[in-house]
Amino acid sequence: MTKFTLLLITSSFLLSNLSAQNTNKCGSHEILKSIEQKNPGYSKELNKIGNSNTLNKTRGSIIYIPVVVHVVYKNATENLSDSYITAQIDILNKTYARKNADTTNTRSIFNNIVGPVDVQFVLAQIKRVPTTVQGFTFDFDLFSGENYADDVKISNNGGSDAVIPTKNLNIWVCDITLPAGQAGELLGYAYPPPGLPNWGAGSSYSSVAVDGVVIDYIAFGGLSKLPLGASTYGLKGKTCVHEVGHYLGLRHIWGDDGGACQGDFGFEDDGITDTPHADNESNSDCNKTKNTCNQGTGDLPDMVENYMDYSSEGCQNAFTKGQSSFMYNVLTNIRTGIRVPTGIEENTYSTFINLFPNPTSESLVVNFSNLDYTNAVIEIKDMTGKTIKTAYVNEKTAIFTVDGLSKFPNGLYIASISINNYKINKSFLINK
Ligand SMILES: [Zn+2]
Repeated sequence: MTKFTLLLITSSFLLSNLSAQNTNKCGSHEILKSIEQKNPGYSKELNKIGNSNTLNKTRGSIIYIPVVVHVVYKNATENLSDSYITAQIDILNKTYARKNADTTNTRSIFNNIVGPVDVQFVLAQIKRVPTTVQGFTFDFDLFSGENYADDVKISNNGGSDAVIPTKNLNIWVCDITLPAGQAGELLGYAYPPPGLPNWGAGSSYSSVAVDGVVIDYIAFGGLSKLPLGASTYGLKGKTCVHEVGHYLGLRHIWGDDGGACQGDFGFEDDGITDTPHADNESNSDCNKTKNTCNQGTGDLPDMVENYMDYSSEGCQNAFTKGQSSFMYNVLTNIRTGIRVPTGIEENTYSTFINLFPNPTSESLVVNFSNLDYTNAVIEIKDMTGKTIKTAYVNEKTAIFTVDGLSKFPNGLYIASISINNYKINKSFLINK
C-alpha cells in the first residue's frame, strides 16, 4: 500500500437542513474518498483488512479512563458550565455501562448481541482557555493541506495543549466550523489508535499531541439548552459517545464503503463480527424497517440503535458485545496508558465524593455523584484512627446519610470510604 502522510479521521457531520436530500451526519466518508483520490488503492486495502477481527474477545474488570475536558471558548455561550461537563461524563458512563434508561428501546431481536463495555470515565481535569479564534475550521479537503480543526489542541494556535495524551482521554469542546461556502454543522471527530486491524495504515493521528476527541459545544453535554441543541437536532450527548467509540477503535457499522454489503466486491463492514451488515448509514433518523444487507438464515435488520451509526441520537442506545470486547482490547493492548493510574486514583475518586453539611451536628450526607459502583463502606474514624461508626451502602445511590453523630465529641473526624477497591479519606467536623 502506498505510504501516505495524510490522516484519516472520523467525524460526525450534520447538515443544517435535515430535510435535504443526501444528508450525511458525518464527514468521514468524504475523507475516505479524498484519501482514495490521493492514494489509489487505499479503499481496497482498507476493505480487505476490514473484517480481520484479530483482537481476542475478552471482558474484564472495569477500566477507569481519566478524562481531561478542554473548554476552548470565545464567548460565554461556548464556555459551557461544569454542569454540561459532568452531564457528559455521566452520559458516557451510563451508555458504556448500558445503564442508560433508553436501553429499553433496543429491539429484542438484538438482545443476544448487545452488552455493556467494561469501561468508566472519571473527570480528571477541566481546562478553560479563552481564544480569539473565530471557530476552529475542519477542512476535509485533504488537498488543501488543512490539518482539520487540530489548532484547538495547540496553545500557540489559539487552542489548549493536550494533558499527557498517552495517559488521559483529552476532549476538546469548541466551536467547530466548516470552510467558507460549506453549509452545515460538524459535531465532532476523533482519531483511532494506531495499529488496528480494522483501520488502514496511516489512519491514526500524526502526532500523539493531537490524539483525542473534539466535540462542537452545541453537541456536548446533552442538556439541550444551546441554540442548536436538542430541540433542533435531537442532540443527547451521544456525539461524544460515538467519537469516543472511534477513539477506542470502532468504525462505523456500515464500514464506510459507500453502499456495499459485506461480501460485495470484496467489501467488508466494520471489522466487528456481530454488528449486522449494513450497506449505508442512517440519515439522522430512526428507521427500524431498514435492512439493507441479507445475511441469509438469522438475518438481522440494520442496527439503527448502534452508537456507531448515523441514526438520530434519540435512536441510539447500544453497543454490541463485539464492539465492547474490541474497545476493551484496545485499552488492554494498545492504549495501555489510558487508565486511572495507581496513586492518583484516590484523588480522582475524591473529586466525586463530597460530604455535607460540614461541620455537622448529627447527620453526614455522603454524595457519590458520578460514580459507578454497587457497594461501599463508610467508616467514621476519630483522630486517633479508631473506627467509631461503620455504615454499609449495599445499593448504588447518589447520596447516603450517616446518622447518629451527635453522641460523639466536637472535633475533627475522618470519613474513610471504601469503593471499587479504593479507599478515599475525607475529613469533616462535628460541631454541636
Ligand atoms: Zn463517526
